[in-house]
Amino acid sequence: MRGLVTKSTGSWYTVLAADGRRVDCRIKGKFRTKGIKTTNPVAVGDWVNFEMEPDQDSAVITELEPRRNYIIRRSVNLSKQTQIIGANLDQAILVVTLASPPTSLGFIDRFLVTAEAYDIPAVLLFNKLDLFSEEGLEILADYMAIYEEIGYPCYTVSAQEGIHVEQVRALLQDKITLVSGHSGVGKSTLINAIEPSAQLKTGEISDWSDKGKHTTTFAEMIDLSFGGKLIDTPGIRELGIVDIEKGELSHFFPEMRQRMNQCRFNNCRHINEPGCVILEAVEAGEIESSRYDSYLSIYNNQDSRN
Ligand code: GDP
Repeated sequence: MRGLVTKSTGSWYTVLAADGRRVDCRIKGKFRTKGIKTTNPVAVGDWVNFEMEPDQDSAVITELEPRRNYIIRRSVNLSKQTQIIGANLDQAILVVTLASPPTSLGFIDRFLVTAEAYDIPAVLLFNKLDLFSEEGLEILADYMAIYEEIGYPCYTVSAQEGIHVEQVRALLQDKITLVSGHSGVGKSTLINAIEPSAQLKTGEISDWSDKGKHTTTFAEMIDLSFGGKLIDTPGIRELGIVDIEKGELSHFFPEMRQRMNQCRFNNCRHINEPGCVILEAVEAGEIESSRYDSYLSIYNNQDSRN
């Protein structure tokens, strides 16, 4: 039988079968993700084949269908293991706030680079619109302009007051969407506003900052009553930029990608080379300096792999 993995706890997987049943499955045999070693060979969003175990309610996953795409994260604890947090995604949404708590531009840019690297369309959703003063709204518009100009759709919303929630529903309809965000940005409140039956707990201090504690959180797929599915990523602080080579990084900044073949050197790193059109564009204000700073910061933090 064929089914969609809607939850994974490491050793057990919940699989939604074609007849609407949810079956507890375990894995038999080895499934490997090409190129990377992961702690979970099967992930939420995967399509699998499974066989019921004799005389039991549970089943065994026997086959993993090829993925259209997937997104990973590296755990924050010492083991630095890599986990697939969602597969076969149509889009990835990052919920951000400019205040209480502020999401840094560096964090937004790392998310966008990850989405580019995995070829997943990314959308930014600015929450807590109700908190903005007139001056705050102007700052918000400036932030949104940075990203809209590069091609990332931006939405404003107040999950708490129900402002623009209909627009978000339209964005999600009939799609499989991964939703991420720093703790406290209102991701759970938003998901509940979109789909009240989800009944996620809100206002909780999440445990990811407590690095000493050995807690693992798992993504879960939420059915949208108007069509589509959300993959919620509780406690997942940051997606992983693990398999990007330094020399490829500029490909994942769309505003750099479209210009860089005009650099004098075809292996230009866009750091201090003469004839670099990226540096010229930053100087001229055509590339936002915050975006270039993020490029440098990721560049300097990536292991040298090339
Ligand atoms: P999560 O950690 O991202 O899931 O955040 P929660 O949904 O738990 O929300 C964190 C806090 O922000 C809670 O106290 C919410 O009531 C509050 N919150 C969520 N959305 C909004 C909003 O649109 N406006 C305001 N003012 N507060 C919000």
